[in-house]
Amino acid sequence: MIIQGDRVAVALSGGKDSTALLLILNQLLPAWEDVRLIAITIDEGISGYREETIQSAEQLTRQLGIEHHCISFRELFGDSLDTFLKGREPHACSICGILRKKAVVVGAQRVGATKLATGHNLDDEAQSVLMNVFRSDLPRLVRNSALNSSGTFIPRIKPLSLISEKEIAMYLIQNGAWRVLPECPYTRYALRREVRSLLSGFEYKHPGTMLHLIETKKKIEHYCSGSLLSAPLHSCRKCGDPCSGDFCQVCSILQSLGK
Ligand code: SF4
Ligand code: ZN
Repeated sequence: MIIQGDRVAVALSGGKDSTALLLILNQLLPAWEDVRLIAITIDEGISGYREETIQSAEQLTRQLGIEHHCISFRELFGDSLDTFLKGREPHACSICGILRKKAVVVGAQRVGATKLATGHNLDDEAQSVLMNVFRSDLPRLVRNSALNSSGTFIPRIKPLSLISEKEIAMYLIQNGAWRVLPECPYTRYALRREVRSLLSGFEYKHPGTMLHLIETKKKIEHYCSGSLLSAPLHSCRKCGDPCSGDFCQVCSILQSLGK
């Protein structure tokens, strides 16, 4: 995933997965002569939650001596997530997810990254497969979200995508890096929360369920490769990002939010 000369932007929320990712990559650094890690934190503007995880991210990068950049929704999109979500709370995670993905890509471009590493773990990946199936969203299941408008392409890597949440927790505890952090107040609206509890039940009764879901996704990707499903059809008329209609999801959301 990483080669000599790479500048790896690590999306660091300050939560457990991205903390483990940065610690592991930093531990591997001596094996690479010419690889640079740069941490990027997105401040969505979620009061009572994000302040503490940002503090945790700042503390970690200071301790490891890693360059750290923080980008806020207010700076990029004109307001905080809390403001955007007034009266739209049930849609919190879809709005937040789309805007945050864009913010991380902007951050990676700003620091001239050649790779963008995120801390998604096996549980996250398996949940996403199931959620896309539940929503019957086949394009999203196979879409390549790393493409952007300028034709530049920053490959997205997920080094922990086959490591379970439990294993990551064990790693952090063993390395004295476990911290109890607050939960996002919008989690209660998330479909992911329900899917998470459903999948943990299945994984407990039928070990391997999550890995099987990932394998299924790979098979579907393979069958869809080269088909229109996996390729964006148009460029957004506002920002130029690849999309399937006239406007990309980010521009559509910002428009609906009056931005
Ligand atoms: Fe954003 Fe939802 Fe995650 Fe909160 S739980 S940070 S609203 S995606
Ligand atoms: Zn757009």
